Amino acid sequence: MLGKPKNNLFKMTKKNNELNSPLSSLPGVGPKITQKLNNINLFTFKDALFHLPYRYVDRTKVTKISDLKLNNYVVIEGEIESVGIVFSKRRTLICRISDNYGSVIIKFYNSQKSQFIKGAYIRCFGIAHRGKSSFEFYHPEYSIMEKSNLKPLDTTLSPIYPTTIGLSQNKLRDIIKRVLDHLCINQTDVDFKPLDSEKLIVTKFSSSEALKFLHNPPSNTDLDVLEARSHPMQKILSLEELTAYQIGLLSERKAIKSHTSKPMFRDLESEGIFLNNLNFKMTSAQTRVIKEIADDISSTKPMHRLVQGDVGSGKTIVAAFCSLQILLNNKQVAIMAPTEILAEQHRLNFLEWLSPFKYQIDLLSSKVKGKLREEVYQKIEDGSTQVIIGTHALFQENVKYSALGLVIIDEQHRFGVNQRLTLLKKGFNGPNDFKIIPNQLVMTATPIPRTLAMSAYADLDFSVIDELPPGRQPIKTSVLSDQKRHGVIKKIKDLVKQGNQVYWVCTLIEESDALEAEAAKVISAELQLQMPAVSIGLVHGKLKAREKLDIMDRFKRKDINVLVATTVIEVGVDVPDATVMVIENAERLGLSQLHQLRGRVGRGSKPSYCILMYGKKLSHMSRQRMEIMRETNDGFKIAEKDLAIRGAGEILGTRQTGDIGFKIADLSADASLLPLAKQNAEEIIDNNPDLGQKIVNNWLPKGNEFSLA
Ligand code: ADP
Ligand code: MG
Repeated sequence: MLGKPKNNLFKMTKKNNELNSPLSSLPGVGPKITQKLNNINLFTFKDALFHLPYRYVDRTKVTKISDLKLNNYVVIEGEIESVGIVFSKRRTLICRISDNYGSVIIKFYNSQKSQFIKGAYIRCFGIAHRGKSSFEFYHPEYSIMEKSNLKPLDTTLSPIYPTTIGLSQNKLRDIIKRVLDHLCINQTDVDFKPLDSEKLIVTKFSSSEALKFLHNPPSNTDLDVLEARSHPMQKILSLEELTAYQIGLLSERKAIKSHTSKPMFRDLESEGIFLNNLNFKMTSAQTRVIKEIADDISSTKPMHRLVQGDVGSGKTIVAAFCSLQILLNNKQVAIMAPTEILAEQHRLNFLEWLSPFKYQIDLLSSKVKGKLREEVYQKIEDGSTQVIIGTHALFQENVKYSALGLVIIDEQHRFGVNQRLTLLKKGFNGPNDFKIIPNQLVMTATPIPRTLAMSAYADLDFSVIDELPPGRQPIKTSVLSDQKRHGVIKKIKDLVKQGNQVYWVCTLIEESDALEAEAAKVISAELQLQMPAVSIGLVHGKLKAREKLDIMDRFKRKDINVLVATTVIEVGVDVPDATVMVIENAERLGLSQLHQLRGRVGRGSKPSYCILMYGKKLSHMSRQRMEIMRETNDGFKIAEKDLAIRGAGEILGTRQTGDIGFKIADLSADASLLPLAKQNAEEIIDNNPDLGQKIVNNWLPKGNEFSLA
């Protein structure tokens, strides 16, 4: 059972209204500042209270110059020994300051400082950089003081807030401080004990003290602990935020499950026709998952299921099979994929797999424009198309489904929770109190260790395709320096001669489609020079949708032997005859991305190869990654190693949490809190739904409504 929350923010009842007061009601916050505040989503007192510093600096003590360390933020004091101006590239004011222990240089570019005279006493605050003969400070904050009359130092650590241009740290700090003062949150009873068991969590729940503490940590607080995000006050709030998120997901699930869906009958004869039309037999893992799905769909509760399966495990056919069940019940199916290429590929597959039946399949993506698009809208609305495959376009406002029975989301980690729900709401039907909602199937190839998955996807039932189709040969992976490029090209020539098809993937650090496209162009030209007899294609993010699809199609038809590509081909692409994957600058990619890319080959029964080329000397981390790639083809093993190397946050990624964007929780530091958060959320939903609602209101940003209402 949950204990009674102590110091609960919501228990400050008389202040509750004030929490919602607009920040513009504070004296000195005019329209201009209000606008700036709004730009970073600060509207009310409550927003300010929850706007937490992302780091702190210590201005509570003066550091002796002899004790300075590189890159430390410090306060120093001393006498100005000399002042000079030099003109090199720009006008620079240079000033030497010394205390009794040493001296430093401070520099200001292009500024006049008339107060700076030899013998004046100055206090500076800034970062110590390495200079020629001593540490240097560039544009430090400073004040000139009488040595006999020094201003007092700060008594708490200074918060550094996320802010925006035109809203200074000082101004924002002042506003938040006034909000805190106004709300009179008492900072009594602060508990510095390390986080311990659920007890602390429950009694400290909704601790307004923790908020106050994190805005102004006392001067004896260990900055390193705060920076590592492992202070108990941070953990308490992270837990609360994660709990809010879990409450959102779980109550969503409850809401979905409380709705009805039309039970869909199974038509075994048609299912048999479908299976006979395939040129392969389903694996037993596929058959098991298909059964789990069919049971869901046949029930009066809407399906709400995540199917996880390694790359190449055959998730698409599972999706097609369960689509058939829906179609046979005269309902529509919507399939959402993260990229245009993938949507088109699904369309072609569904066309083939559903060919024994008379269903209309349409694509709705950015490539479908103008009049054509209007026509598709019309067909969706009047029910003359039954399978709608597309990208984000599927849940846009003008799309109205006539009878949506199933929503399938492929590569779900690419989408946010909200996008999933918006699409789901498209299928609402019936009166308000008896809504019939569509079934939902989400698929992901990102293997996530099970415990993590259970907590992160708290709202979904879970199936795993833990088997690859038979005859797959492990992909032989080799790791080579860019220096050996010539040898690689020679090897590729041979492989192409033997009838193999090759992906050649170029990567860049910058997330720029344009630059990546440039790099790919250069490489395809270079390869063409060295392999004049080989047909080389090029696909990248700057191409028009139609051009991309055209190239992919030619690659599929073997019209192209070597496909030079950027990471646009990363997810989902399936060309079974392609057997060679070359990845340039592989050291720049994370394990899951490498695994996804490598998963583009090894899809048929021919032996496949993956060549990871690295540009510079490998760092320790990238060497580890390459080793893991060479050792195993198993996505789950890779995910576990990845978890060990990088921590959970990176694996779940920001995408997993969709557009929620945590205020304080950081999945890489706080993943271990997830199971607790889930447990807390379950208890709260069952025993104290009012509190749950309040916690959700507090932590989840507005507009991220979880409710299906
Ligand atoms: P993923 O799970 O990565 O989405 P796909 O659905 O793209 O995998 O399937 C990979 C390839 O395996 C496709 O060419 C698909 O037709 C084929 N495939 C799927 N299931 C089987 C099976 N049981 N036996 C043989 N091939 C299969
Ligand atoms: Mg897939």
